[in-house]
Amino acid sequence: MTITPVMPTYARTDVVFERGEGAWLTATDGRRFLDFGAGIAVTSLGHAHPHLTAALKAQVDKLWHTSNLYRIAGQEKLAERLVANSFADTAFFCNSGAEAMECSIKMARRFHQAQGDKGRYCVITARGAFHGRTLATLAAGGQEKHLDGFAPKVEGFDQVAFGNLNEMRAAITPETAAIVVEPVQGEGGIIPADPAYLKALRQIADEFGVLLVFDEVQCGLGRTGKLFAHEWSGVTPDVMALAKGLGGGFPVGACLATERAARFMTAGTHGSTFGGNPLAMAAANAVLDVVLEAGFLGRVNATAHTLWTRLKAMVAKFPKVFSEVRGQGLMIGLKALPPNGDVVGKFFAHGLLTVVGGDNVVRLLPPLNIGATEIDAALAAMDRGCVELSA
Ligand SMILES: *Cc1c(COP(=O)(O)O)cnc(C)c1O
Repeated sequence: MTITPVMPTYARTDVVFERGEGAWLTATDGRRFLDFGAGIAVTSLGHAHPHLTAALKAQVDKLWHTSNLYRIAGQEKLAERLVANSFADTAFFCNSGAEAMECSIKMARRFHQAQGDKGRYCVITARGAFHGRTLATLAAGGQEKHLDGFAPKVEGFDQVAFGNLNEMRAAITPETAAIVVEPVQGEGGIIPADPAYLKALRQIADEFGVLLVFDEVQCGLGRTGKLFAHEWSGVTPDVMALAKGLGGGFPVGACLATERAARFMTAGTHGSTFGGNPLAMAAANAVLDVVLEAGFLGRVNATAHTLWTRLKAMVAKFPKVFSEVRGQGLMIGLKALPPNGDVVGKFFAHGLLTVVGGDNVVRLLPPLNIGATEIDAALAAMDRGCVELSA
């Protein structure tokens, strides 16, 4: 037997973290790291945030789980707040991004089929997209490397080039139920959609009577400097998936929708045993307490502005390492020239955690509440790494 007790589906870096505080992590061997990956855009308020910790501790002593057979106060509170601060009228709670997307896809099919349009089930997605690792969301993402060995691919997903409106229009058929895009592609390599593209998708969706779904699992919840990334475009979707940053590190996902899109999601049509349990809701409500505070998003934008200015200077200084800074707010991609894994490894050696992305990008997804100290430390680590990579 050579298989490890933990199923080896990840190529993990050899480090075990023991403690976290703000943007900093301490490993079991005493090494300290600056966390500019935030567990892949999850710990958006840093580690051990006092308000989140207190909220979760208080809930731990009261009640963990009751199931969705009963009302859950935290769900009602969180749903009301998400509705009050978005295009949506209603929210379904689950435990992950993939589940939030599954709910979105099911809702899109049911929206048409419950109206008697039984043949409408196809979802058009964008190339380079990532929507999760369940069978349906793998088909939605359409990436060969993720689908390999898991055939047959779930039927009903067509892909077109991200940003290409001609392809999108041409792909629409009487079977199309929805268009699904990430307003900023994350795993695909931090590629923001042009606001004009999102506007046109809204028009196309309306023209053909299909639902427009935004996957904001990675770009939502303040990451881009707006509560939701699509707000930069002025366009609203019919359905939106959230997860990563929503629980600040506690697993929680949500599918938000307009009343029209969700009107056939009646009792018994969808469910989740764990979805929206009191612990998850305490965590997510605590995250919203902070993110919705007056001035929070303004500070995210100011921080992003400072960081972008410094990163642009770094890219100019190291043309053999990076060719571009891209993204929106604190969802940042550095387009690398050496293999991005080498760059991430080099930054790691200098105490900075970053994340690889598609298109040979190094992703920076720092906590949204970092300050000047963290920016200085990150740039110093990157500078040292880039000097070595340029040699
Ligand atoms: C991470 C991610 C998902 C999947 O989320 P999981 O919680 O891993 O299931 C879906 N969509 C996007 C855009 C993501 O970044």
